[in-house]
Amino acid sequence: MSDHEDTLQEGYFTSTVRAAVNWGRKYSLFQYPFVTACCGMEYMSVNSGHFDISRFGAEVPRFSPRQSDLLWVVGTINHKNAPTLKRVYEQMCDPKWVISFGVCASSGGFYDNYAAVPGIDHIIPVDVYIPGCPPRPEQIMDGLMLLMDKVQKGPLMIR
Ligand code: SF4
Repeated sequence: MSDHEDTLQEGYFTSTVRAAVNWGRKYSLFQYPFVTACCGMEYMSVNSGHFDISRFGAEVPRFSPRQSDLLWVVGTINHKNAPTLKRVYEQMCDPKWVISFGVCASSGGFYDNYAAVPGIDHIIPVDVYIPGCPPRPEQIMDGLMLLMDKVQKGPLMIR
């Protein structure tokens, strides 16, 4: 739906408030890094000064899910730590978003075995999938910008 159609459907006041609130949301993402494996190296890299993720307002990690609204799932998830991931997601307040970082988190990657979860979307909803083993920092920032676009176009009230 275009911005113009949004405005007609919601009304001018509501669509303007929604755009302003979502603009604030997309530039103040508080990330919770759920890091389990080697993709963590690229996660640390993209959080370094060289790539300057703070220009997106997403540089501050929170190590409490209750203070976070963006869950980065970084690395392989196995059946043993899957309940912990689900619990962390459930403890985050709405609105909240999930980025699946790398092929292991997205599909199990080459760990096609009894221990690995074949994609975190078997456990929790995912907003953006970032491919790669590991993904390059440029891919990660591209995934982050995709999420920011989704946040901007999202609803005002999240149930
Ligand atoms: S996608 Fe590759 S780099 Fe990332 S956790 Fe899996 S094996 Fe490691």
